[in-house]
Amino acid sequence: MTQTAPDPAAPLVFDTAELGRSSGTTMHVALEVPAPAGLGLAGYAVPESSPLDVDVHLTAVSEGVLADGEVGAVAEGECARCLAPVQDALRVQVQELYAYEGSVTDATTEADEILRLSGDLLDLEPAVRDALVLAMPVTPLCRPDCPGLCADCGVPWDELPDDHVHETVDPRWAGLDKLRLADTDGESK
Ligand SMILES: [Zn+2]
Ligand SMILES: [Zn+2]
Repeated sequence: MTQTAPDPAAPLVFDTAELGRSSGTTMHVALEVPAPAGLGLAGYAVPESSPLDVDVHLTAVSEGVLADGEVGAVAEGECARCLAPVQDALRVQVQELYAYEGSVTDATTEADEILRLSGDLLDLEPAVRDALVLAMPVTPLCRPDCPGLCADCGVPWDELPDDHVHETVDPRWAGLDKLRLADTDGESK
């Protein structure tokens, strides 16, 4: 069980001392904090320092503190089909138990199964990261029916006329085509 002590100054680390480990006591955390780095995947993430809207209740239970609420953030990335910038407002549920050090839960589970409090400090970041990453699309799209790019010229279909086709060979490529023909069937025109 190796969990580094949370930095009390980190934006998602909250001091739960006021709960006094008294079951049923709740504190409400509602604030906007700068997003830490690494909230997302390659090519689609919540930009570092962008606003993270945190609205959670921290409730003392017998084995620790339950964090329960919502987190909102704007994720940015690239459309997987047309490469246009994509921006999505994400709102995710966070529900996570943080075990007291020395509790039965602390003694009987691994830190990667159940998170731990560090003294009275609760680091919400891993719970927020997991919830956000789960809500992120495997294939980000600018819109569900994005037609992507023309395979021949690489121009987004959205910017091309409906009758866009490549049956007539562009004069810039005609020479190349001749070479290709000559190469494949020995016939040159
Ligand atoms: Zn797109
Ligand atoms: Zn085209």
